[in-house]
Amino acid sequence: VRLLRTFGEVRASRSGSLALVPTMGFLHEGHLSLIEAAGELAETVVVSLFVNPLQFDQADDLARYPRALDRDAGLAEAAGADILFAPGVSEMYPLEPATRVSVAPLTVEMEGAHRRGHFEGVATVVAKLFAGLQPDVALFGRKDAQQLAVLSRMAADLSFPVRVVGYPTVRESDGLALSSRNVLLSPAERKSAVAISRGLLAAAAAVAAGERVGVALEGVVAAEVVGAGGLDLEYAALADAATATRIPALDRPAFLAVAVRAGAIRLIDNVGLTPDGETDPGVRLTRPSILYAKER
Ligand code: AMP
Repeated sequence: VRLLRTFGEVRASRSGSLALVPTMGFLHEGHLSLIEAAGELAETVVVSLFVNPLQFDQADDLARYPRALDRDAGLAEAAGADILFAPGVSEMYPLEPATRVSVAPLTVEMEGAHRRGHFEGVATVVAKLFAGLQPDVALFGRKDAQQLAVLSRMAADLSFPVRVVGYPTVRESDGLALSSRNVLLSPAERKSAVAISRGLLAAAAAVAAGERVGVALEGVVAAEVVGAGGLDLEYAALADAATATRIPALDRPAFLAVAVRAGAIRLIDNVGLTPDGETDPGVRLTRPSILYAKER
């Protein structure tokens, strides 16, 4: 894998079509599934790695975010990345950006309500990646379902000639959605955190059994999370998959999203749902995640 630091270097070294996988690094199997899928979609696979200060509303969350460039380079290469684009803050933001991308109607609720400025930061940095790297396709995880809705809409609204595609959530073997933040959980928090996916799976089972009422589905998740102890529920919401706004009933493609605080660590997760009763809980690892490997 070639480690490049500037937009210009990436544009100069691409050959043929380009697939982009934007990340903040500390890669896990969720990221690797996107990198592997990218290899099927384009000739050149670029993984960007940038811990974007603009999207953090909490300074301590930014400071504590795990970073490991050498580890990530090896993992990205093994998954099929051609280029690792790791710009410094001065390449990404040579000036304090006066131009910001706001996808306002899609960011009022859920993550938008709980993390001030978060999606403006995400949309701005991804718009810069789209403009500066000119990918043909960009891959994102459905783990961040509201983010996927926001970025799909941003690309359409701004006429970026890029196809935005979503991929299933990858989970640890007990069901906890993979997140770089999982390594920051204490053993007790890690144990409680499994209630998040358990609640979402219980709600998905309720959908399969015929339940379509939003508050009922949200209640199933909330009960599991609150019952686990040690977790603070921020929200459980049934939301329209395209507009990321809460809906009273499952009458269109949707996701049931949840945000939880486990001590100082914030975790989010969701399941995709359709009115036909189809559910998209993602996929599970059968082995411990590389997040926990001592050596890569
Ligand atoms: P991040 O590094 O957390 O910003 O994530 C980079 C990309 O990986 C985003 O498109 C995320 O949605 C995706 N991603 C993160 N965690 C997972 C997961 N557990 N399964 C699938 N995709 C994920």
